[in-house]
Amino acid sequence: MSENRVVQGRMVTAETLAELIEGESVMEAESIEEADRACPDCGGSVLEVGYMPSVTEFVVGRKCQDCDWSETDGD
Ligand SMILES: [Zn+2]
Repeated sequence: MSENRVVQGRMVTAETLAELIEGESVMEAESIEEADRACPDCGGSVLEVGYMPSVTEFVVGRKCQDCDWSETDGD
């Protein structure tokens, strides 16, 4: 299975998806998974990725495939 997914018309890898959610580059990202929920804004599919924004942090970010909505479980 390919790691690449399409988000808002762009092909993304786990790392570029994490960067879209974080708004800046990340240290490391795990693989992309389908989140078990729909986007609260548009009802689209939501992808989930765990990543490290810095050496000491690990967060799980979620991003809609169809619109700008995203969130993280970090602070
Ligand atoms: Zn959406």
